[in-house]
Amino acid sequence: MASVYLGLGSNLENPFFQLQSAVAQIEALPDTTLVGCSQFYGSKPLGPNDQPDFINAVCHVETQLSPQALLSALQKIEIEQGRIKKRHWGERLIDLDILLYADEIIRTADLTIPHAEIALRDFVLIPLAEISPGQTIPGLGCVETLISNLETSYLKPLD
Ligand code: ATP
Ligand code: CA
Ligand code: CA
Repeated sequence: MASVYLGLGSNLENPFFQLQSAVAQIEALPDTTLVGCSQFYGSKPLGPNDQPDFINAVCHVETQLSPQALLSALQKIEIEQGRIKKRHWGERLIDLDILLYADEIIRTADLTIPHAEIALRDFVLIPLAEISPGQTIPGLGCVETLISNLETSYLKPLD
């Protein structure tokens, strides 16, 4: 079993519902157990800012799926939930990223783990620290140290 952290994001068609649906789909993945999920947080969009705010969360799963099989399974959930590619870093119904896969460092054509932008994103680091305090990010250090290096944070836990 590998301990894996997933990043979830949505800013279209009731993002709260989209995240809840994605968590249910993740829970139903084969050979995978949902261990926990952070609160849902509101965040400002990256990239184009003429789009709605996002809701983000981080889930912890234990899985026997390989990193590549997990990526394929997550992409299938995205498509089934209705994600259509629009613009780079643009609005989306659901985005499911693999943030960490055990203590592995992976760099292939379609998979970078730890997630390439992990150290720069409050909406990933803060929910990750919430559910896994002291978490080490392979090659980058401790999650709390990375948070203290962020310039600003617009993240707000939702009630
Ligand atoms: P970002 O990667 O900056 O968060 P994004 O989530 O908007 O951007 P997508 O359009 O969802 O990017 O995905 C583009 C590609 O990223 C996918 O086809 C996938 O192969 C690749 N990718 C690389 N590393 C990962 C990862 N750790 N988790 C999910 N996708 C990844
Ligand atoms: Ca993403
Ligand atoms: Ca993605």
